[in-house]
Amino acid sequence: MNLKSGTYYWPTTFPDAPSYPSLDEDVNCDVVIVGGGSSGAQCAYYLADTQLDVAVIEKHKIGHGSTSSNTAFIQYSGEKLFTDLINTFGQPYIGKHLELCRQAINDIEEASKLAEIDCEFLRRDSLYFASYHEDIKRLKEEYALLKKHDFELEFLTAADIESRYPFRKDAAIYSYNDAEINPFKYTHGLLDYAAKKGVSVFENTEMNGHFYDKERDRVTIRTKLGKVIHAKRVIYCAGYEGIDIKKEKKASFVSTYTVTTNPVEDLSAWYKRNLIWETARPYVYMRTTADNRIIIGGLDEDTIYAEDRDSKLMNKKDKLINEFNKLFPDIHVKPDYYLTAFYGGTIDGLPIIGIYDDHPNSYFLFGFGDNGTVYSQILSKLVVEEIVTGKSEDLPYYLQDRPLLK
Ligand SMILES: Cc1cc2nc3c(=O)[nH]c(=O)nc-3n(C[C@H](O)[C@H](O)[C@H](O)COP(=O)(O)OP(=O)(O)OC[C@H]3O[C@@H](n4cnc5c(N)ncnc54)[C@H](O)[C@@H]3O)c2cc1C
Repeated sequence: MNLKSGTYYWPTTFPDAPSYPSLDEDVNCDVVIVGGGSSGAQCAYYLADTQLDVAVIEKHKIGHGSTSSNTAFIQYSGEKLFTDLINTFGQPYIGKHLELCRQAINDIEEASKLAEIDCEFLRRDSLYFASYHEDIKRLKEEYALLKKHDFELEFLTAADIESRYPFRKDAAIYSYNDAEINPFKYTHGLLDYAAKKGVSVFENTEMNGHFYDKERDRVTIRTKLGKVIHAKRVIYCAGYEGIDIKKEKKASFVSTYTVTTNPVEDLSAWYKRNLIWETARPYVYMRTTADNRIIIGGLDEDTIYAEDRDSKLMNKKDKLINEFNKLFPDIHVKPDYYLTAFYGGTIDGLPIIGIYDDHPNSYFLFGFGDNGTVYSQILSKLVVEEIVTGKSEDLPYYLQDRPLLK
């Protein structure tokens, strides 16, 4: 899969990132993680504190897949409103999902603190504004639902918004305690943590074949360089390329665009440097970075053809800057980095842990969705819990064939 093209900001923030050897001998281990992006790193982080013998293999360099294009909003609310998710899954189901999302943000914070590499994790409030007057009703319903689940948030009127921001909008949900992170450093931070606890990490090590050895009850992974890994369990964390290994019919893709601007001297017009997004579909969203740049993203297109996606990049770059200037006319920016990428979701709005009969002893982490980092934190924890204890109570909520409980 041709995941993305353009220029990438995050890797430039960490030019001295650790590097790891490629696998040059056969290995036996308890768990092998295929993929060294943020979700592979999240699994490695949880496995690092167990007694299990763990290896991570990455076909290129750590963190250079979708992780390096992630705008890294760390939020519980996603593109699909919780009020809509409840219509599909029912209140208790989504109540549990909400609780797990809240916990995952706390877990990301804790993991960032444990990592020796500074992941630039910062708590940020979010502003989710009504793009159109007719969206206010749905925003109010969403606000009431989240309030019921004890989330800390406010409903802002037009006057409230005008008093804080240099733009006018009719209404918004203001959520406290979301967060932002540097996803490239987070990935390296977690893998560095895991490696120091004995997890073996291999870069430039591509899996190009695998089979289940029934007699030994192990999965054998073959690498492109001719080495073999025998593992009791495999966790596939290959990101959107995971569907090249196992087709998942609930996965869906669009193309998306982001711009990272030059560092800006004065961000005082930006109330608390909130994460900002909106109810329009496709939406535009924006955040700031540790070195005072602005990342603007969105304007998604339905295309899943790389050529089509890439041909729109220059135009989208200008449009994103334009959208930003509609909100902040006095902040002058220029695009230092811009990219386009495929962006995975699921047709029902929840991420997936794939467990398939034709892939024994294997877990597929499809943390797809606009909160992919939060979702992968949840899924990693549940998969590791299941591997270590033999049972995870909450894992079935995310199985590909999840029951639609009402
Ligand atoms: C433009 C954009 C913006 C986003 N914004 C947000 C956001 O604001 N908030 C949020 O939470 N999420 C966001 N996401 C989603 C987020 O980026 C993903 O959830 C996350 O990066 C996925 O990480 P991953 O490790 O699963 O995938 P990847 O980073 O793609 O890692 C998978 C790795 O597996 C490796 N691999 C694949 N096949 C093999 C093989 N055969 N052998 C060995 N290695 C293999 C790849 O090389 C790759 O490094 C965004 C995504 C995009 C594209």
